[in-house]
Amino acid sequence: MSFILQGIGVSEGIAIGHAHLAAPAALEVMHYLIPKNQVDKEIARLDSAFWVVRKEFEALQKSVVDGHARAEFSAFLDLHLMILDDPTLSEAARSMIAQTHCNAEWALMQQMQVLLAQFEEIEDAYLRERKADVMQVVERVLKAMLGHPGYLPIASKHTGDSILIAHDLSPADVMQYKQRQFIAFLTDLGSQTSHTAIVARSLNIPSIVALHHAHQLILEDDCLIVDGNQGIIIVNPDKYVLDEYRLRQGQLELEKKKLKRIKSVAAMTLDGTPIDLHANIELPEDIERVKESGATGIGLFRSEFLFMNRDDLPGEDEQFEAYRTVAVKMHKQPVTIRTFDLGADKNLRGAVQVAANPALGLRAIRWSLAEPKMFHTQLRAILRASQYGDVRILIPMLSNVAEIDQTLHLIDYAKKTLRDEKIHFDEHIKVGGMIEIPAAALSLDIFMRKLDFLSIGTNDLIQYTLAVDRIDDAVAHLYDPFHPAIVWLVSHIIQSANRAKVPVSLCGEMAGDKQFTRLLLGLGLQQLSMYPAQLLTVKNQVLKSYLPDIIPLVHKIIKTDHPEKMLALLAKLND
Ligand code: PEP
Ligand code: MG
Repeated sequence: MSFILQGIGVSEGIAIGHAHLAAPAALEVMHYLIPKNQVDKEIARLDSAFWVVRKEFEALQKSVVDGHARAEFSAFLDLHLMILDDPTLSEAARSMIAQTHCNAEWALMQQMQVLLAQFEEIEDAYLRERKADVMQVVERVLKAMLGHPGYLPIASKHTGDSILIAHDLSPADVMQYKQRQFIAFLTDLGSQTSHTAIVARSLNIPSIVALHHAHQLILEDDCLIVDGNQGIIIVNPDKYVLDEYRLRQGQLELEKKKLKRIKSVAAMTLDGTPIDLHANIELPEDIERVKESGATGIGLFRSEFLFMNRDDLPGEDEQFEAYRTVAVKMHKQPVTIRTFDLGADKNLRGAVQVAANPALGLRAIRWSLAEPKMFHTQLRAILRASQYGDVRILIPMLSNVAEIDQTLHLIDYAKKTLRDEKIHFDEHIKVGGMIEIPAAALSLDIFMRKLDFLSIGTNDLIQYTLAVDRIDDAVAHLYDPFHPAIVWLVSHIIQSANRAKVPVSLCGEMAGDKQFTRLLLGLGLQQLSMYPAQLLTVKNQVLKSYLPDIIPLVHKIIKTDHPEKMLALLAKLND
């Protein structure tokens, strides 16, 4: 049967291929029977998953908690280890497999239900709430069993045209798919600027999120058309629809090829204003794509991705190598390294989310200042890499001046330790701040007096200004980059920075969305940073833009606060 599903297209393009289902929704598992002679092996599989999770917890305790006495966090990990070791869970699951020959996931789930029922009986509300911890621990053990074909069909039959479908994936999960050959990427959850979507976009393949039930409705091997531009999937299309989409796919390919011709053309408006088009990256491997895009610098190196998908923290030498590689490969073009923006949805492996509102919690610079040793290691690594190119430091999620002062102090201290060891670095390294919290945008003057440059993080600026969680698809319709308040704030930041002659860039997803290119140019922005795959489309728009025509229209947009009038003016601007 053919049917259509609608979601949010987060990466453009058309893919035609076969469905490949990733792990099912967190706690959904299949039940099947194990042949008698395989029962011991099945128990060993369960044991090994418990072992893996224990190692994850231990690594986390060692890497994050040691020395920094975060009692609450430590207590949480202890609790999770206690649950993991509770015989009601592991022993009972083991004997269930032995007696009923069921699969390990199923046995584990049954025992989880037993534990949850026991928690239900507890009168103490706090202890009753610990049910969530039991579920989190079980979820981890299930994930550790992902390699088993009964739970996750790791390898698709269709190599070369596999379309990955997952209920939900963390940004760290998506990173792991970078190495795999999928031609499109679909998830039930997510929204336009969730980090999962951002990483999916960096895969440079059509991607759709917020499909709600795709993972349940689509079957392994179903034939799919993924239209990333419209945000739709056509499941088991008929021959005519397939032909139509193959034609469109061909046209899109042709357009992409044509765009490649402007790769080496300098990005400049028709009136001769030069525009810097920089690239966002997550790992040094991304540099190849940056080169193909013709970007003239790295505007945002999301360094936190070096810390994810591993059991330990990257040491100073390892980080230095990563930063140096990028600096060298960019041949003296700017390389803006954002200090790690961990927390919220980007976590260390094994991290247990304790905050009720993680996006408002210990994230980015707040985490760095709470973990000075970890931060010091990174600062030294960046400083050491600074002698190999035009390296800059960018501080994420600043909300007050004290954070700038403390960070500058820590940078000075890192410099001093290097000097003492006679290690060279750029003494005049530029330090900039991300403006992504409304408080920062509204107290810009003092920020500008202390920082060398600004970078507008619209992904978070929109989230925090509109009070819309960027990873929650239930409120994705409220996440609006063209909300009058956002346009006003972005305009205020650009114009204040230009007046103060402080370089300003924009590195949120808005920078790569061609419908906003002229708006941003008209506001006075001359530096944009985006995913390499978006760069030539944006450059094409820059090359066709004439600022004297654009600026008056943009001023009209800022002056009106009526969304419909604003949209009409935007359409006119992009005519
Ligand atoms: C932003 O918030 O716009 C940004 C670029 O940072 P991130 O998406 O990594 O939060
Ligand atoms: Mg951000």
